[in-house]
Amino acid sequence: MNKKIHLICLGVLSVLVFNTGYAKEPKNLDLVKGVLIQYHDSGEYEKEQAKVINHAMQYLKIRLKRAKQKTETKKLAIVLDIDETSLSNYSDMKKMSFGGTLRQIMDAQANGTDSAITPTLKLYQYAKANNIAVFFVTGRTEPYRAATEKNLTNAGYTKWDGLSLKGDTYKERSAAPYKIRARSLIENQGYDIILNIGDQQSDLTGGHADKTFKLPNPYYLIP
Ligand SMILES: [Mg+2]
Repeated sequence: MNKKIHLICLGVLSVLVFNTGYAKEPKNLDLVKGVLIQYHDSGEYEKEQAKVINHAMQYLKIRLKRAKQKTETKKLAIVLDIDETSLSNYSDMKKMSFGGTLRQIMDAQANGTDSAITPTLKLYQYAKANNIAVFFVTGRTEPYRAATEKNLTNAGYTKWDGLSLKGDTYKERSAAPYKIRARSLIENQGYDIILNIGDQQSDLTGGHADKTFKLPNPYYLIP
């Protein structure tokens, strides 16, 4: 930025700050939590999820049609994230008042009682019924593999072609590099990942999928 413009901007900013004397009070936390509960309980959350999955389904059908016309050269696959994409942690999140330590959250996941996110389950069933490979790529870590497998099965995700969990010693701040590597390994097995669906931007960045679909999640952020 030009030095002169920079100084003018700083000047305007300090006038704004020093004239008011204090920053605008942020929204009250309990009221925000009320809005989050309402978003879920009103059905709006699931409606938004269904809208996104519906778009993903339309694209899946286009690729299936091409596969039937023998114009696809590779085996088709889809990648699904797990939490807030395939399974819902909502009841645990609400119980913990949308807080809790990482340990408490992981222990809740270890119970293996999360319910399916219905629109995603339907997409999964449609994909499996049409011989499209399904890979789960989750930020859950390896020690939670057995609990995760049990939970997926109980929720109706009875078969999959791969389940990738994060290594216990993963140190990067963002989940994205791990997820990118996981998709790259799927491609190395000869698959074309036609869809990658997740609720976090870090599920989706970095390519290795023909199309990405972002589900809503106002409850937490994973860098
Ligand atoms: Mg997720």
